[in-house]
Amino acid sequence: MAEIVIRNLRKDFGAFTAVKGSSFTIRDGEFFMLLGPSGCGKTTTLRMIAGLELPTSGEILIDGEDVSQKPASQRDIAMVFQMFALYPHMNVRKNIAYPLVSQGVPRAEVQRKVAEVAKILRIDHLLDKGVGGLSGGDRQRVALGRAIVRNPKAFMMDEPLGALDAEFREIMAEELRALHDRMHATTVYVTHDQLEAMQMGDKIVVMNHGVVEQFGTPQDIYDHPATLFVADFIGSPAMNFLRFDGQAAAGAGTITLGDHTQPLPRLQEPAAGALVLGVRPEHVALSDTAPLKGRIEAVEYLGTTQIVTLSTPFGAVKARTPSTQPARVGDLTGLALNTPRLSLFDATTGRAFR
Ligand code: ATP
Repeated sequence: MAEIVIRNLRKDFGAFTAVKGSSFTIRDGEFFMLLGPSGCGKTTTLRMIAGLELPTSGEILIDGEDVSQKPASQRDIAMVFQMFALYPHMNVRKNIAYPLVSQGVPRAEVQRKVAEVAKILRIDHLLDKGVGGLSGGDRQRVALGRAIVRNPKAFMMDEPLGALDAEFREIMAEELRALHDRMHATTVYVTHDQLEAMQMGDKIVVMNHGVVEQFGTPQDIYDHPATLFVADFIGSPAMNFLRFDGQAAAGAGTITLGDHTQPLPRLQEPAAGALVLGVRPEHVALSDTAPLKGRIEAVEYLGTTQIVTLSTPFGAVKARTPSTQPARVGDLTGLALNTPRLSLFDATTGRAFR
């Protein structure tokens, strides 16, 4: 298996730059997510790693070897596309065997490997069936089987579950993750679904307009978003943003919010000007004694919790509270923000203060 290092990777299509100088490292055996909205450059990045697209500049190292200008055939990477990429006239066995047969692997070896892979994917009972009559999930397993069978250095997956309905998607996501945990194969996975990225990934790169906004573990990215874009893109309902003008010295543990002092995590750098205080809905509690006031505009019941929307002098704020807590539309209440979980951003650059 393989470690993949990306350095200052850039891709121009004519005058348009799809990827603007990405750098990150995918460690051996990681399940690695490329996450971002449509058109942000995820697929282009994946295709460059696989060798299906050559970078305009920058480097791709696989196990220390610079493969940036090498064709796909010399990189030993398997691409897994959405499920329809099967040969319709071949049965399951032949579909899975295809990459080995085309490499001239001896027949007995092919049979052994196909049987092994079919067992891992639990499709051994389907080997002699045509692919036409298979369910969506089984077709997906066959496509995966074809990728796994030649034991490549790494797997590239471009929205592999994109064509499945919600229920199946969840089942296949769990299977993929379980498969990865058994094989420990370096996997790069493209998705625009933040929940899928959070659930499946060891690490996530969040991209926007061709730029890497943040790179880290799901928890890093959720708890310490580096930019307003990441803070807004990850989490549902989204992080609340309270907009105000203010200033805080380096080392300060407070900021003035309207007519009261709001405690903050201690800042390592000074902050001043147009600022945004970020707080996730689960870190807002309703408390009559809290100095920040808001009026309840809506209550959305979700079973054990409810989402309470309040209007405040700093904009709308959503709070996720236990549904046993009374919350009546029209009431004025206090909002207590969980200090250690607050983020402060520069409204102009979008960057988080550390
Ligand atoms: P999606 O989820 O919609 O596929 P993405 O994040 O994977 O989005 P890319 O497919 O990498 O985005 O595309 C990034 C940008 O580069 C898009 O604006 C796209 O139109 C452009 N692009 C991609 N391939 C080409 C090409 N061959 N020629 C010109 N422009 C391209």
